[in-house]
Amino acid sequence: YAKKKQGSAIQIFNHALLKSFKEDAQIERDLQAALKNREFELYYQPLKDLGRQAYIGAEALIRWHHPKKGVLYPGAFIDIAEQTGMIAAIGEWVLEAACRQLNLWQHHNINLSMHVNVSARQFFSTQLYDQVWQLVTRYRIRPNTLILEITETELMEDVVYATHLCKELAELGVGLAIDDFGTGYSSMRYLKQFPISKLKIDRSFISDLSVSRESREIVSAIIAMAKALNLSLTAEGVETAEQESFLSALSCHQAQGFLYSPALREAEFSQFLRANTETPLH
Ligand code: C2E
Ligand code: MG
Ligand code: MG
Ligand code: MG
Repeated sequence: YAKKKQGSAIQIFNHALLKSFKEDAQIERDLQAALKNREFELYYQPLKDLGRQAYIGAEALIRWHHPKKGVLYPGAFIDIAEQTGMIAAIGEWVLEAACRQLNLWQHHNINLSMHVNVSARQFFSTQLYDQVWQLVTRYRIRPNTLILEITETELMEDVVYATHLCKELAELGVGLAIDDFGTGYSSMRYLKQFPISKLKIDRSFISDLSVSRESREIVSAIIAMAKALNLSLTAEGVETAEQESFLSALSCHQAQGFLYSPALREAEFSQFLRANTETPLH
């Protein structure tokens, strides 16, 4: 009986695995057409400055309007795009769309920084610097309003090249943020080696704040360290007012999360800003 049971477990496993292979293959095929058919869209999640109590930036997050599956989140396709190399074209599209939007905001005197996620393959592609330089020039973007986000693990894949690229980006004036900070295996070494402008504390630490003393200690240590190293800091995944007050009390610079807003399409994002910006009294 045990043997029989084991056998069927393996069958179930194989079936699930086969299904996920087929799904991935389908996603891979559909990705080929997605750019051409304009199925991608950038959504924007606001970043709040906790000191000034004002929205000062946005993170661009990609969404895929899949013709059959509906809206797909990056978790469903970014890894596949990365493995197949399609991330190069998608990443270029993302950068361009984000810069075009940033230009529109600057044109309308909307003072926001734009955070753009960059995957490892894109970061190490030798074309990234030229792409960024051309976009900043073409869209007349103030370089310090553009911030690229990369995870620490990805950054550490090639320390020599990363050091070189970070320096070039810093000279151009474009910011670099470490995304999901605290979840990688890397050392603190890169904080002195790379000209990084910002850390984003991973949301796993924030969601634990009320129940885990360890998370509270880690978050306050990260805040103190960022301050000492003169790094800007954003807490990701802020969902409750308690989390916000904990962060405010330790004077964490910025917060991002569902407490304020999820990522929104451009039109709704503009509406959100209008509703949440105090009009100057003059
Ligand atoms: P990330 O860069 O860490 O982005 C934050 C993720 O957390 C987003 O998920 C956002 O919707 C979600 N989030 C924000 N606030 C909250 C909150 O309060 N609670 C919870 N539970 N979640 C929150 P999303 O949009 O699904 O993106 C997932 C990841 O996919 C991103 O993580 C980023 O690594 C990657 N990604 C997104 N857009 C792009 C892109 O254009 N290019 C690349 N290469 N990667 C992207
Ligand atoms: Mg990010
Ligand atoms: Mg990320
Ligand atoms: Mg993150």
